[in-house]
Amino acid sequence: MRADDNPRPAYWQQQVRYLIEVDFDVEKHRFTGKQEVMFINNSPDRLDRVYFHLYYNAFQPNSMMDQRSAHIADPDSRVGNRISRLRPNEVGYHNINLIKMDGVECEFEITETIMDVFIPFFIEPGDTVNFYLEYESQVPLQIRRTGRDSEEGIAYSMAQWYPKLAQYDDQGWHAHPYVGREFYGIFGDFDVIINIDSSYTVAAGGVLQNPEEIGHGYTDEYEAKVDENGKLSWFFRAENVHDFAWAADTGYTHTTHMSEQGTLFRFFYLSNERTDHNWGLLPGILDSALTYLVARCGDYPYPEFSVIQGGDGGMEYPMATLITGERPLLSLVGVTVHELAHMWYYLILATNESIYPYMDEGFTTYITEETLNYLAGKNLLPRREYTSNPHAARIASYVNFAREGREEPMSTFADHYITNAAYWMATYTKASIMLVQLSYIIGQEAFDQTLLEFYDTWKFKHPRPDDFFRIAEKVSGIDLKWYQNQWIHTTNTIDYGVDTIIGNPDGSSSLILVNNGTMPMPIDLTVYVEGSPYYLHIPLVIMHGRKQIDDGLEFMQMEPWAWTNPMYELHLPFPVEEISRVVIDETGRLADVNPVDNVYPRERESD
Ligand SMILES: [Zn+2]
Repeated sequence: MRADDNPRPAYWQQQVRYLIEVDFDVEKHRFTGKQEVMFINNSPDRLDRVYFHLYYNAFQPNSMMDQRSAHIADPDSRVGNRISRLRPNEVGYHNINLIKMDGVECEFEITETIMDVFIPFFIEPGDTVNFYLEYESQVPLQIRRTGRDSEEGIAYSMAQWYPKLAQYDDQGWHAHPYVGREFYGIFGDFDVIINIDSSYTVAAGGVLQNPEEIGHGYTDEYEAKVDENGKLSWFFRAENVHDFAWAADTGYTHTTHMSEQGTLFRFFYLSNERTDHNWGLLPGILDSALTYLVARCGDYPYPEFSVIQGGDGGMEYPMATLITGERPLLSLVGVTVHELAHMWYYLILATNESIYPYMDEGFTTYITEETLNYLAGKNLLPRREYTSNPHAARIASYVNFAREGREEPMSTFADHYITNAAYWMATYTKASIMLVQLSYIIGQEAFDQTLLEFYDTWKFKHPRPDDFFRIAEKVSGIDLKWYQNQWIHTTNTIDYGVDTIIGNPDGSSSLILVNNGTMPMPIDLTVYVEGSPYYLHIPLVIMHGRKQIDDGLEFMQMEPWAWTNPMYELHLPFPVEEISRVVIDETGRLADVNPVDNVYPRERESD
């Protein structure tokens, strides 16, 4: 092979710059948009078309999103049949009046949420082109994530609200229709100008550039520059992000908090007896959460983070989250920490949510449990105590689900799970356990280092699952391809057990372990001899390596186990009557679907 035939060229990614100006009509819930998108084709490919997402078009009766909700066995209650009942003044739409590329008007074809633009000339590798769009849009009644008049009374939750250039990477175009989930965008800078009635406070995932013309809690020294139509012109900038979201309401209380890390938190909520107390406690708690997340995941690179009441649950956007706000404190902290954690997992480490939903949600779920446990340890959470294994409840719920045979493989595309329950289980819970078990396989220290190296290597880029596991392999010196394959691409399950312990004539003992499951794992074994623990580690042959240390614990290293053999015999230099107890995985990180036989002697069933 010649060097220039290299079939895997070096990593590259596309780049954009958005300039969006919208003029908002709060009576009709419509806006007109003028939008420039500068696009740099950093790919080695000549592009003969581009796609834009028009997410609002999903909120129309009989859309793919509506059909999906009608036909899935367990529809998301937030969607239900609500789209089918939208009236003409409640649907969402984007009417595209004009699109030009480098000044030349383009033909286009819209298939619901995807606009296919027939460009006048090829975009060559390395070319920069400029798109210009004019459009009229109607904000849908709030159904899912975006829209007007949310259940908690927020006027505008403006997510997925502008024509967004689809991503093109070395897998090709990612122009998936909006059926419910989820997103993937191109990094770049956003300048967004929002002209809206001056009574509205605008909250956004960006830094306000003209606070002195605005006020509304952004500065105390201002001269409101209201135009002849009674509007303020808000100018936000967000750099090195791949989306932009905002919200607006006339009743927002806007507070700020400068964190110890130097990140300015902004909070926007409707003040009432259901929000005041908890939103008042949130800044201090979030400050501690940010400190912990930075230590575990890497720096928070943006100057601000806005927590905005809006939407229908919680959803992450660059430098901001939209969450429902009328929650008990633990729920409010839980959702906010989850969305803050997404700043690393999806917003900075920008994985493709539609193809690999487990990457952003799994990592986020994992680190959220760890962060909440840290906060509990600092007595910052009501009715929650620090625990040695904050993932135990999730492991138990996965085990139940797997035993009921309801699982679908984690590698399923986000929109294509047969049931929502299987999507949620795989993408949040089983994916967080993917990391819990990885810390078990390679050891906590190597796992912690892997998280930080993943960030250093892939921040502001688009990593894929392989890229993460490759770093874990390099850090630990352990081959992990078997684990990645089985946990993600199959529904194989883990079931190890202690079979028997037999006393030998020479005063030693033989311990037999058994693999009754369909997925191999290394085994940590704690053997109690006259009450004292011995920590043994049995790696798999296919790991070509072994962990040396795990959370400070060093192991007695045993011979590797060949997964082809369902039995493993261990020779212990102790008389059988001195062995009081044997436990597989005392830390409880292994998602063994039949944990009863992991302890010897078996613990008696409680009455
Ligand atoms: Zn999430």
